[in-house]
Amino acid sequence: MEKLRKIVSRIDGRGYKAYKDIRGRYDLTPHLAFIVDHVQGDPFASPSKVRLRLSMGEAGIPKDLYATKNRKVALQDFILRLFDKELSRFSRKRGTGGSGTFRAFPGGQEIIERSGCVVTDDFVEVRFLMGFPADGRRIKGRVFLEMVEELIKASKALRYKNMPREELIGFIQTYEDQELIREKLKEMGLAAFVADGSILPRRSGIDDRPMKGAVPFRSPETLKVSIETDYNGLITGMGIPEGVTLIVGGGFHGKTTLLEAIQFGVYNHIPGDGREWAITVKGAVKVRSEDGRFVRGVDISPFIGELPMGKDTRFFSTDDASGSTSIAANIMEALEMGAELLLIDEDTSATNFLIRDARMQRLVSKDKEPITPFIDRVRQLYKELGVSTIMVIGGSGDYLDVADTVIAMDSYVPKDVTAEAKKVAKEIPTGRIEEGKGGFGSLVERVFHPESFEPKGRKKKIKSKGIKEIVFGKEVVDVSDVEQIVEEEQLRCITEIIGYFKRHTPKEGLGFREGIEKLLRRISDKGFDILTPYPYPDLSLPRSFEVAAAINRMSSLVVHQRKIPLEVLKESG
Ligand code: ADP
Ligand code: MG
Repeated sequence: MEKLRKIVSRIDGRGYKAYKDIRGRYDLTPHLAFIVDHVQGDPFASPSKVRLRLSMGEAGIPKDLYATKNRKVALQDFILRLFDKELSRFSRKRGTGGSGTFRAFPGGQEIIERSGCVVTDDFVEVRFLMGFPADGRRIKGRVFLEMVEELIKASKALRYKNMPREELIGFIQTYEDQELIREKLKEMGLAAFVADGSILPRRSGIDDRPMKGAVPFRSPETLKVSIETDYNGLITGMGIPEGVTLIVGGGFHGKTTLLEAIQFGVYNHIPGDGREWAITVKGAVKVRSEDGRFVRGVDISPFIGELPMGKDTRFFSTDDASGSTSIAANIMEALEMGAELLLIDEDTSATNFLIRDARMQRLVSKDKEPITPFIDRVRQLYKELGVSTIMVIGGSGDYLDVADTVIAMDSYVPKDVTAEAKKVAKEIPTGRIEEGKGGFGSLVERVFHPESFEPKGRKKKIKSKGIKEIVFGKEVVDVSDVEQIVEEEQLRCITEIIGYFKRHTPKEGLGFREGIEKLLRRISDKGFDILTPYPYPDLSLPRSFEVAAAINRMSSLVVHQRKIPLEVLKESG
C-alpha cells in the first residue's frame, strides 16, 4: 500500500498519461494484492483493467468446493456474482468520463466459465474494470486512493466466512446435477428434458428473467421420465426422445417458448431461473434462415442441387445467401462441427426449404427445382448420421409422416398426440413423392486457410459489439442470427479467438472443427489468459458451434475441403 500511495502522490494533479506509472502489483494488505494490468489512455476510454487477489489462506474456501472442474466453474461464477454486488455499491461517477466507476462481468442467467474470477489452491482472484478518476485530464489522486480503500472493503465478498453458505452449496450442487442430467440423457435415449414445474417464458425479449404468473410446465403422462440426481432427488418431467420430434399447435400456444427453452438448455441456468431443469444434449444447434449471410465453401448439395447457371453446391460460396441456401449452409456447418440435435422453428425457416407438397411437385417438376426439402432429409439425418431434429411446425401436416414424436402445445400445456398424428397421416395421405434419393451422403471436412484471419483495409482492429457484431478491420461480421450466443462476454471471447488465430496461424491442414475444439479445450484447461496480452475481466466460454458460426460468417474466410482438390476451390471462390 505504501508503494502505491507514493506513486499516487507523485502523479496527483498531473496529466492523465502519468497514470501509466501505476501498472504493476501492490500489496494492499499482507493477504490482498491489487494488480493493474492495463491503464486506460484517457478518462473517456474503456476503463482500466485491474485485479484483486486474496490469498487462499485468508479466503478460506474449503478445497472440496473446487475439487472438480464442474465445482470450480460453478464456484467461480458464484463468487463473481457476489463480488459484483459488493463492487457495484461503490461504483459512482467521480469526475470526467468513467472516473470513479467499477464494473465486473458476472453474466446473466447462465452459469458459464468466465475470465472474471479465478480460484486456485493459492488464491481467489477477481478481475474488473476501474475508471481511474480525473478532473478534466488531471489525475485525482485522493479519489484514486479512496477507490482502492473501497476495494479492500469489497474484498470481503471473497472470504468464505462472509458467503451465504447454503446458497453457495445449492448453486454448486445444482450445476453438478445439471451436468449429470445432461450426461444421463444419452443413456436414456433422450435429446432433451424439461422438468415439471419449470417456468419457460421470459419477461420480455430484452429481459431474460422468468415471466411472472406464467403457467408452469407439466409433462404429458406418456413422455414422463424421472431422473435421479445426486443432490436434488428424483426430478420428473418430459423427456423428448431422440429421432424426429414435432412441436405442433395453434399460434400463441407456447411452441416457440418451448423450443427456446430447449435451445438454451445447452447451458446451465442459475437457481431461480425457471429453466434450471430444462436440459438439452450438448450438441444441440438452432438453425434458421438468414437472408444475406456470407457462405464460404460449404457443401450444401444434400439440400440444394445444381443451381441455375451451373453453380456448384458442393463447394458453395455467396455474399448474399437466400432463405433456403442460408439455412442449408447453417445445417451443414452445424453437422461439420458435430451437431447431434437440430432445432428448427417454422417462424424463422424458409417455407420452400421445409416443404414441397404434392401439388407443387406436380406443377413444378423436380428437374426445375434445385431444393430437396428438409422433410425428405430429416429421417435420413437420424438414420444415417444419428442426428435428431426437434422442430416447431404448425403449418404443414405433411411432416406427420416423418415424425417419431408429436407434441401439441395447448394453452402452454404439452400433450402427446403421436398416436393421433399417426392416425391422421394414415387417413389423409399427402400424395407426395419422396425426393431424397440416394440418402444424405457423407459429410466433407473443411480446412481453413491462414489468410482468413487477416483483416482487410487500413484499420486492423478486431472488436465485438454487443452480442450481434464483430468488427473485423473494415468489415462487419454479423452474428445477430446466431441465437445460442447468450452474452456479450461470449462474443468478446469469440473475437479474441479470431485474434488468436490471426497471430497463431493454424497449422497447415488443421481441420475447422479440430482447430476450434482444440483451442477451446486449451482455454478451459489453461484459462482465458492464453488469448490475451494480459488478463481480461470480461470473457466467457462460447461453444465450438458458435465460434465456428462467427468464423463462417467472415467474408475473408478461405477454406478448402478435404475431399475436393484445390483447383475446384479456386474456380468457385
Ligand atoms: P407460438 O410459438 O405457439 O405462437 P409463443 O411460444 O411465441 O407461441 O408464445 C406466445 C406467448 O405466450 C408469448 O408471449 C409467451 O411469452 C407466452 N407464453 C409462453 N408460454 C407461457 C406460459 N407457460 N405461461 C404464460 N405465458 C406463456
Ligand atoms: Mg412461434
